Amino acid sequence: MKNEYLQPYTSFFERSEDEYIFMENLYNVQRDVNIIYNRFYKKLVDDVKNDRGIDIESYRDSSFNHLLHQYPLQSSSDILFGGLHSSDLVSPDCKKASKIKPVTIYVGVSSSSNFYDFGDNFINISPNSYIFNLIVSLGTKVAFERIPLKAVKRAKNEITEFRIKASIAHELSHWIDNSLHSVMDNIAGNPIKYSGKDLSNKLLLRKHNVNATYYELQAQIHGIAQIKKVYRAQWDKFTLYDLFNAYTALHEVARSLASDPEELNQWLKDLVKRMSREGILGKNMKLPVNVNKLLYEKITRI
Ligand SMILES: [Zn+2]
Repeated sequence: MKNEYLQPYTSFFERSEDEYIFMENLYNVQRDVNIIYNRFYKKLVDDVKNDRGIDIESYRDSSFNHLLHQYPLQSSSDILFGGLHSSDLVSPDCKKASKIKPVTIYVGVSSSSNFYDFGDNFINISPNSYIFNLIVSLGTKVAFERIPLKAVKRAKNEITEFRIKASIAHELSHWIDNSLHSVMDNIAGNPIKYSGKDLSNKLLLRKHNVNATYYELQAQIHGIAQIKKVYRAQWDKFTLYDLFNAYTALHEVARSLASDPEELNQWLKDLVKRMSREGILGKNMKLPVNVNKLLYEKITRI
């Protein structure tokens, strides 16, 4: 495989004739993250926090009903609060992305969790449906009493402002990456043929696990930036362990990489380096970490 085939896809350094342009940065999505959160999840988070019971109807916004009939997921357990079209978004990078590759954003609680579907042009946003359903049936207090002690802290972080905002920013950044730089279309969607072979994530990016690719890292960084906004005052006290407890997606990534220690270590290094560059690496996150201690168990049993 020649290097020039790898060059355009291995980083956000873009090459034009005789110069490289540094393209990697955090997108400005804040206003839309806040709007989506406030409109659809703020009351849910307050109800969970205060053990008021879950009132699904009260999270729905009828002015965002018109897109719901197009919802491509067909699980009867999915609950939709609303749907937005990206042309309604207001932050600068979302507006740019919507002009190139508009998407519909479905907001609610679904077992399929958070993702950006670059083929069918939609984004699905959902907090942890397992914790949500547990709280629906038992109430907040009893639900958390049923969770194994070592997982309670993480379970309590799932339906919170910082966790949900992290998911929204994560998926918006995937969509903007793809709109402005065709990141997924080039790599995951249409593998490039080289010597008769499809060049996939694995061959092109030299990563076995999608979670360790630079475009997932880019989205993880957007999520961490949201957590920092909410925890600004305590950020320098946070260790990497605290961060992984707060942004549970990170420990899911670590777990998914556990069988490949080399890739896990490289991912963690890449993550910390990028955090440092973006000014979101708290002082205590520079303390030594035992990588194996980041591999918590999944919260699945009660
Ligand atoms: Zn992602």
